[in-house]
Amino acid sequence: MTTASGPPSLEMAGRAGSRRWALPAPPSGSQGTRIDLDDLCRYYDIGATVVKALDDVNLHVDHREFVVVLGASGSGKTTLLNMVGALDSATSGTVRIAGIDITHAGRDIRREIRRHTVSFIFQSFNIFPALTAVENVQFGADAAGRESPRDLAQQVLEEVGLADRADHFPHQLSGGEQQRVAIARALATGNPILLADEPTGELDFHTGVQILELLREQAEAGKTVLVVTHNREISRVADRVIELSSGQIVSDGPPRGGRAAVRDVRW
Ligand code: ADP
Ligand code: MG
Repeated sequence: MTTASGPPSLEMAGRAGSRRWALPAPPSGSQGTRIDLDDLCRYYDIGATVVKALDDVNLHVDHREFVVVLGASGSGKTTLLNMVGALDSATSGTVRIAGIDITHAGRDIRREIRRHTVSFIFQSFNIFPALTAVENVQFGADAAGRESPRDLAQQVLEEVGLADRADHFPHQLSGGEQQRVAIARALATGNPILLADEPTGELDFHTGVQILELLREQAEAGKTVLVVTHNREISRVADRVIELSSGQIVSDGPPRGGRAAVRDVRW
């Protein structure tokens, strides 16, 4: 049983009796951007051996900040992001997003977290090839059930500097422009937490820097932005760097040497 003063819980959400679960309003309180991972393990049992993709991870993000998760290939970055994005379930430990314990949540609650709380940006953009830029962005607004989705999509495209590309299809856009469409789609949801998996991985340096700048601006505008990368140079622009190695957090703090401006990084 949940008390009135306690945090929102699955029981409370489940008793709402409809498919629209009672989640806290996203951007107003700090709950909207909270990420709490406690004693989190994600093991893959592959027969002869067990891969410890995440091995006793404790991570708490409670500010609207730009967080970079840094680690070599195979260190567990994507697994971690999938946990925060309600795409995967823990082997043990707990996962709370925006104050909601989703450790044992079913598909409906996970979907609601993805609709209203977290948005993904991928290395390979993942925008729909048959939809124009503005239609791709509108998809994000529609998925989150936002009002006037078309107008909103147009407005967000403008914010990412693509107003004049609204009616272009992805194949008519550069890689950097496609990634900006993907970011616009994530922003159009209005969700307070942005998750980006190697978002500059397929872009040249110059374009990658523009994307980083855009993501930084989102953190400054009040979102929590979690970027995973294997590129240490990118971590220099973070407020906070979490280093993963073999599924474990090996350091957590501001970048070594202090935070750098995006224009000062090179890779
Ligand atoms: P990263 O994103 O840092 O490259 P991942 O999170 O993708 O790392 O993977 C972490 C570890 O878990 C790696 O050793 C990887 O091989 C393993 N792994 C990831 N997904 C699976 C899976 N579905 N089955 C078995 N092992 C997996
Ligand atoms: Mg990965």
